[in-house]
Amino acid sequence: MAAWRSLVLTIFPEMFPGPLGQSLAGKALDKGLWALDVLDIRNFARDKHRSVDDTPFGGGAGMVMRPDVVDAALSAARESWSGGATGSEGEAPVLYLSPRGRLLTQDVVRDLAAGPGVTLLCGRYEGVDERVLEAHGTLEVSVGDYILSGGETAALVLMDAVVRLLPGVMGNADSPGEESFGAEAFEGLLEYPLYTRPADWQGRPVPEVLTSGHHENIRRWRQARAEEITRQRRPDLWARYTKDKG
Ligand code: SAH
Repeated sequence: MAAWRSLVLTIFPEMFPGPLGQSLAGKALDKGLWALDVLDIRNFARDKHRSVDDTPFGGGAGMVMRPDVVDAALSAARESWSGGATGSEGEAPVLYLSPRGRLLTQDVVRDLAAGPGVTLLCGRYEGVDERVLEAHGTLEVSVGDYILSGGETAALVLMDAVVRLLPGVMGNADSPGEESFGAEAFEGLLEYPLYTRPADWQGRPVPEVLTSGHHENIRRWRQARAEEITRQRRPDLWARYTKDKG
């Protein structure tokens, strides 16, 4: 099976791979555990100024990305999925990073990691003409309830979250499941507190149970702390957790 692939459409191609060229994601990229391709939307502009934006109909501040230019870029993206060297197993969704989108949660990340990859459309200015989003059946994904200056950093967040779930990327196969929001032992809870050496730091010893070597007690302590932290910090997650538990 071909590696999970991300195809990014942006007017700032030099922002990629950016931070994802380092560390875990960077090594995985070098090893071909995932693939990253970038299309410069500006290459699909038709006029001599290579403009990708224009003023909004109806007035108001800012500029809007033109549907004809974005359409040409999205069409090239689709072609590269069907005919490209990577091939395509199943459909890779076209996602427009947008504050109006479905919130990127670990469930969404897991679904994306299980697929062949994604096409990511990064907006700039005030955003993208609505008609081209409709025409391409674009899904919208938000990284949170705040406004970024462009979709590129949101695309990096999405790819970072997906790539660490891909087979072979994390050194320790157990790790992803133990994270906050992870799938296994502490499903639906925020992470318990972490400690490492020195065992006594500035008069603050680590909790005794952690040095006891008693695995069941350690597990119970972590569970209790994870529950307490979730209840205090994220009543929304806590409510869902207690409901799911029955
Ligand atoms: N006028 C828009 C904001 C545009 S910000 C509004 O008020 O909703 C410019 C671009 O940044 C957007 O087109 C989008 O691609 C990206 N962006 C901004 N905030 C984002 C977020 N929270 N999640 C994902 N993408 C975001």
